[in-house]
Amino acid sequence: MKKIELLAPAGDLERLKIAVLYGADAIYLGGKQFSLRSRASNFSIEDIAEGVKFAKAHGAHIHVTVNMLPHEEDMHGLKEYLMELERIGVTAIIAASPAIMKCAKQYAPKLEVHVSTQHSSTNSSAANYWKDKGMDRVVLARELTLDQIKETAKHAKVPLEVFIHGGMCISYSGRCVLSNHMTGRDANRGGCAQSCRWKYRLYDGERQLHDDHDLFSMSSKDLMAARFIPDLIEAGIASLKIEGRMKSAYYIATLIKTYRMLIDEVYEKGCLSEARLQYYYEELSKAENRPTAIGFYLGQPKPQDHLYGINGAGVTQEYIAYVLDYDEKEQIATLEVRNHFLPHMEAEVFGPHIPMTKFMIEDLYDVDGNLVEVANKPMQILKMKSKLPMEKDAMIRKVMKKDRSDIY
Ligand code: SF4
Repeated sequence: MKKIELLAPAGDLERLKIAVLYGADAIYLGGKQFSLRSRASNFSIEDIAEGVKFAKAHGAHIHVTVNMLPHEEDMHGLKEYLMELERIGVTAIIAASPAIMKCAKQYAPKLEVHVSTQHSSTNSSAANYWKDKGMDRVVLARELTLDQIKETAKHAKVPLEVFIHGGMCISYSGRCVLSNHMTGRDANRGGCAQSCRWKYRLYDGERQLHDDHDLFSMSSKDLMAARFIPDLIEAGIASLKIEGRMKSAYYIATLIKTYRMLIDEVYEKGCLSEARLQYYYEELSKAENRPTAIGFYLGQPKPQDHLYGINGAGVTQEYIAYVLDYDEKEQIATLEVRNHFLPHMEAEVFGPHIPMTKFMIEDLYDVDGNLVEVANKPMQILKMKSKLPMEKDAMIRKVMKKDRSDIY
């Protein structure tokens, strides 16, 4: 049986490589042209080519979002761009515009074309429509219940991709003009200003409904669908997608490591116990994210699935160091500082090949061999004796207890 794909986002080459190293089967990214999320789309063709080479060397694939809805004047250079993506070995494009789909099939036929979630494909008939048009995969709408996903998968003749983690549009994905209205920035051409997450004053006629210290936001909690993965595997879903091309390398590493372990465990044991699920919830909560909920998986989201008056991600200070190197013979780790930490405090390391493991930070030295009392200079290089074997590209974080009552 072909294993389900774990599909990770990447906003730049560093994050692409981290996602691959930590276990993603495929990475999606935006190029400089024809993509939404233009702020995250910092991949030049050269960057994409390097990403493809790195991914292929590790058995992974690259998907490129070409998902803008182009106006007449946006079409220039599309054919050449798609041919170039095909030439450098990109596996698939994710497209929403029939103009882009048609162009890809005509001029870059080796590229798979995946139909973007912007099409709000909510049933097997819609999925099969795209199959008949020659498309290779359909990304289902986020606004489906688990039962609807299963029913769609039963009748779909085309591989399906579903979202399992990350930010949610408060409106149907791709069907929102709030940003266009508030800022003139077109959400369907890469310019969304996330106006839904702003704080608003609500009025009933002349009467303001809230105090100014209690403003209203339309932001939803992030999606976290870990508990449904065994069902999605059984339903024959092809790919599990994580949202977040703007997120940090630490966020990507935490999520990909955790979902990789979870998926592998489901294949190995055939199920996931409640205790193991709680363990994975705890691990996922260590990413710097907003509170999470289960989106539409069990029906319409309820009031508690929204964030009223809170916007923006809660960036944590938990991630404290990146492991540049580990000398096994000398048992010395070379660290690059990310956030404040002290010698002799409890920490946790995890890496591409090492599970999450707690340990005590030992004495720290700078590159000249001077004892360092506190690590508080971001990007400073420090040496640390560590009997616990570490590895290049591992990450170290503080051990913090969190209230996870927002995860259920
Ligand atoms: S404003 Fe919010 S709901 Fe609208 S497209 Fe942007 S993120 Fe989605």
